[in-house]
This record gives sequence, structure tokens and C-alpha cells, in this order.
Amino acid sequence: MSPIRVLPPELVDRIAAGEVIERPASVVKELVENALDAGAHRVEVRVREGGRRSIEVVDDGCGMTPEDARLAFVQHATSKIETAADLERIATLGFRGEALASIAAVARTELISATGEGAGTRVRVEGDARRVEPIAAPRGTRVRVRDLFFNTPARRKHLRSARAELGRITRLMTEFALLRRDVHFRFVSDERERLEAAPVEGLRERVHQLLGSSVAEAWLEVDDAGPRVRVYGGVTAPESARGDRRQVHLFVNGRVIDDGRLVHAVVSAYDRLLERGRYPVAVLFVQLPLEDVDVNVHPRKAEVRFLEPARVYGALRRAVQRALAYQLPPPRLRPAAPAAVGEGAPSAGGRASGVAVATLPLRGWRPVRGAAVGPPPAAAPAPVAAAGAAIAGTSGALQPLAQYADTYILAADERGLLIVDQHVAHERILFEEVLERQRAGRLAVQRLLVPETFDLEPEAAAAAETYAELLASFGFEMEPFGGATWAVRSVPELLGARRAEASVRALLAELAECGRADTVERMQREVAASIACHAAVRANQPLAAEAQARLLADLARCEVPNRCPHGRPIMLRVTHEQIEKLLWRH
Ligand code: ADP
Ligand code: MG
Repeated sequence: MSPIRVLPPELVDRIAAGEVIERPASVVKELVENALDAGAHRVEVRVREGGRRSIEVVDDGCGMTPEDARLAFVQHATSKIETAADLERIATLGFRGEALASIAAVARTELISATGEGAGTRVRVEGDARRVEPIAAPRGTRVRVRDLFFNTPARRKHLRSARAELGRITRLMTEFALLRRDVHFRFVSDERERLEAAPVEGLRERVHQLLGSSVAEAWLEVDDAGPRVRVYGGVTAPESARGDRRQVHLFVNGRVIDDGRLVHAVVSAYDRLLERGRYPVAVLFVQLPLEDVDVNVHPRKAEVRFLEPARVYGALRRAVQRALAYQLPPPRLRPAAPAAVGEGAPSAGGRASGVAVATLPLRGWRPVRGAAVGPPPAAAPAPVAAAGAAIAGTSGALQPLAQYADTYILAADERGLLIVDQHVAHERILFEEVLERQRAGRLAVQRLLVPETFDLEPEAAAAAETYAELLASFGFEMEPFGGATWAVRSVPELLGARRAEASVRALLAELAECGRADTVERMQREVAASIACHAAVRANQPLAAEAQARLLADLARCEVPNRCPHGRPIMLRVTHEQIEKLLWRH
């Protein structure tokens, strides 16, 4: 590290002012940040009475020369920035040279530091009294802070209970350990070890160490790179939700950040998968260029300001949405072995045989539209059913009952009633099918008799160029047609010629959002999702009974039959027990 210097007043004026030390956890935060800035591989924190009596932080970092150890306690003395320009690109956790001075002003403080060359130094500060002396010590730094606010009784009185303070420190230590899994952390409170985390390779291992095996088992990995923002880490499946947001851990460019809007971005990604007031467990790292973040806005560095907040929130939300859409385990939509014909089962084209509905009271149900609606509309599922796909009756226990409001298919299985959103369900079916066919190189392509031409904005045109090969593998052939005009020569057959322009535009917009770091697989999914969305049957569209049945049969064969490619739920379930309970059958 460079030597410590006192910042010039004009630079001090530009530093976010405010109270640095508010409670024991603020002391721990500043001291651990210093240890990490010093390149420590091992950080040990010991507290007594929730830190109110004493806090000790020991690190094996670079240590300080006698000169620096003395200067470290001077207000605005720091080795981490020098000029105003440095304030725009802060890569260290600390930068304002205030922490040690602020701590020493409100507590009895002792620092022992050594660089490993020559003698170490001890500095003791109590009120205005200061003593500096040489001392033998190993490389690294040890800071001990006793009797916080001993000289400001009013503030001491405002400290919360030892338990509450301990809770905050424990959370902070957990977050530091999540942030730096290459560092060995140990945290001891009143002689009891609270946390011990040796370095590990992967985040999931760290999560297992710190948050337990059930969280690690419900873990969904997040890794999503867009333009100027990367989001990675992980979240839990909705089943592991908590009643408060304390297990949502967010980091921005390697800092622990407490930002309600970012938490909201994460939670909103779950959409209806989480009830109001429920929060997932999340450990998410947001990475963006240093100049896109201002870390100099909060005295305790708990918040940051983004140059483009909307982009960051959007990226966070999208990253979590994708993780949910791609990795949530399939629901309990098991195909059942063919069983006896259900008494009173609706006659979906007379082919309901072999469906396990016998235990459900189906008598009296009729399809709203009956089977006599006429030929299925053009975008009905018929054209997409896999070759030889069976109509309901052989594929599983899902039994279509009727279409409701031209938008939902009512169905039953052995557990109760299902209300299936036909558009979202069809989206999921097409998504999986398109991906599978594209990979096998058998996606049907439709050549347009007359190429369709339209203008593209620069971003979309750039995406069309960059991803030409990817697009071609899905049947989109496009080429520049002079100026901003592009011509589309072919599209996937599923889309049908008339939707070419709208679907190509939507697709290019999606791709323009993808980053270079996105994997090919992810891009393929993006394209498939876009095609599926445009080709899927819409809401407010009557479906013949046969089309309803086929949709459900195809859905039951999907890998992830309960969410659309972007995480929206496909179906609502009302269990048999719920029905009986609400109707007072018990
Ligand atoms: P800041 O971290 O903002 O620079 P601090 O008051 O926290 O301000 O620390 C002042 C200086 O003391 C730091 O810039 C650093 O050079 C030195 N320092 C503090 N703690 C340590 C440590 N644990 N190991 C090595 N150097 C340290
Ligand atoms: Mg510091």
C-alpha cells in the first residue's frame, strides 16, 4: 500500500459527511474493511456484550510502518485516495480516512500493527491522550476497541440490547464471508464461536457453510451479463421464502449494500411465486464499471448511487427471473399410469379413456364451448404437437374439463382442479419444442415469397449483424437492404409469414439486451422464448375441446410445465382438500 497522507481540505469537502460510527456494527464494518483493504487472508473478530464492551479485529494483512500507524488516527488520513479524480473510481472499501479517527474519538482504542520488517508499533488512544511505542508483533494488524461511547453517555444509552447488536454484527460478518470466500473468517462473541468459514471455491459451498444445507439445496444459480452490468450469485426457490428480508444479501462492486430498491428488484422477479411480505434467500453480486457507481454518497458506505439506476434494477430483476424460469424444479405434474375410465368424464371427442379421474366428482361438468366450436383457430396447438403426440388419455392424469373465459382451460388431475392459462402454457410447450428442434437441426423454416423489408434502429441492426448465425439457426434469414432497411427472407414456420416484422423486432430488442458474456445456450433460450411468445395461442381465443386436450397433453410432457420461459406461472391449483374444506365437507 502507498503511505498514508492527510487529504487536502478541498477533497475532504467532497466526501459525504455524516456519522461514521453509529453502533458496534459500524466499528466492526470499518475495521474488517480495513483488514480486507490490507489484503488479509484471515480476519478474526471477537466481541463482548454485542460489541458494547469490546470489539477486537485481527488480520494478517500488510500491516503499517510506525509512521503510518501514527498517522492512521489523524482525521482524513488515508493511503487509498490522493486526488479528486480518485473519488470517481474507488476500488478499495475505505477511502476517506475517517474510520480510525472516528472510532478513537468515541472509544478506548488500541492498535498494534507490524509489516513484518522491523519492529511493530502500538498506538493507544483514550480521549485526548495518545501513546505510541514500539512493540514486537507478527505481520498484520490488531485493533481493540473498548467501551464504545464511554465519553458520550447519551449515545451509549441509545444502543440497543446486546442481543440486537450481536444480531447486526453476525449478519455483517456473514455478508463479509459471502463477499470474500477466499478469506478465512472467524467470529467469536463472548467466547462463543459464532462463525468460522475457511476459504472455499464456490459460492454454493460458502452458502452451505454460512446459511445451512437446506438453503444450499434450494439454491438456484444466477449469472447474467448485460451491457455494463453483470449480476451473479444465487437465490432460493420460492418454497424457501422467509418472512423478512434479512437473508437478501446484495453486493455492488464488492461492497455490502443495503438498498431497498435493489431488494425490491429481486423480490419482484418472483412475481406471483411469492406472496406479499415473503422474501427469498439471495446472495447477489452486481458488477459494473467503477465510473457507473458513486460510492461516496453515504457516511457509512451502506448505499451507493448508480449512474443508470433503471438499468441496474432491470438487470437484477431479469437475472433472477431467468434463474427461476430455467432452474425451478418441475412441479408435481406427474403423468399417471392409465387407469379405468372415469364415470361421467367429459367426452373430449370420445377419447377420454384411460384417464385417472374416477375419484373426482365430475358428473354434470360440460365443456363451456363443447366440441362443436369448429376448426381450431390457426394458432391453436394443432400444428405444433410433436409427431405422433397422443391426445389426452394416454399421456397423463390431466383431464380437460372446459375452457373458461376463452382464456383458461379448466382441468382436473388426481389432486384437484387446475386453471391453466392457455397462452402461457402454449408458450412453454413451444419454447421447449423450438429449442429441441433447433438443436437437432430440424426446425421447419418458411421462406417468404416476397422478402419483407423494414427499417431497423442502429441497436437492432447491430444485433441482427452480431447474431446473424444464431438467428439463421432458428430460421430467420435477414440481410441489409440499403440504408437502415433490412430484408427478412425467411422465418420459423411456427411464426407464419404475417408476423415476421413484429416478431423480428421484438427478438432483436431482446438480443440487443444480451451481453457478450452471455452463453450461447442462454441466447438460444432467449430466441426460443421470443418465438414461442409470438407463436403461442392468445388469450380470448376459443379452443375446441380437442385443442384443449392436446395443449394439456403437450404441457404434461414439458420439462418445466409450471412456468413460462420468463418465470410466469402457468397454472393455478385448487386441491381436492381445499374444495372439500371450503364446501364444509369435513
Ligand atoms: P480509510 O480506510 O478510509 O483509508 P481508516 O481511518 O479506516 O481510513 O484507515 C486509515 C489508514 O490506515 C488506511 O488508509 C490504511 O492505510 C491504514 N490502515 C487502517 N487499518 C489497517 C489495517 N488493518 N492494515 C493495514 N493498514 C491499515
Ligand atoms: Mg477504513
